Amino acid sequence: MKTKVLIIEDNEQNMYMLSFLLEQNNYEVFQAFDGEDGIAAAQSIKPDIILLDIQLPGMDGYAVARSLREIEKLKTTPIIAVTSHAMVGDKEMAIQVGANGYVEKPINPDMFIEEMQKIYTNFSMEEL
Ligand code: MN
Repeated sequence: MKTKVLIIEDNEQNMYMLSFLLEQNNYEVFQAFDGEDGIAAAQSIKPDIILLDIQLPGMDGYAVARSLREIEKLKTTPIIAVTSHAMVGDKEMAIQVGANGYVEKPINPDMFIEEMQKIYTNFSMEEL
């Protein structure tokens, strides 16, 4: 069984790159381009990992993370925030609202899978 990753990201280029990298590494990818769709998709798919862009139109990533944590079956799903390097305070805030870790934009294609997998593995170990 492939690991299911839901990407919630409004930027087409980032979505394309993240999807490409994940599929190349044998993950099963699901896409949502805004927060509302992301929350709906998370409930129906029950992904193993949620990659959550913080800067989304309308409902931002913090609000999305809070909402996801209120859904019983998603309470322990690893959420990895995708934050902009330039935005001071984003990472701390992301963790505060329920994310388990973060990766910084711009995404480094050579490092991204490793960074994500590291957060996922650490999280899974804490759960045991
Ligand atoms: Mn964005």
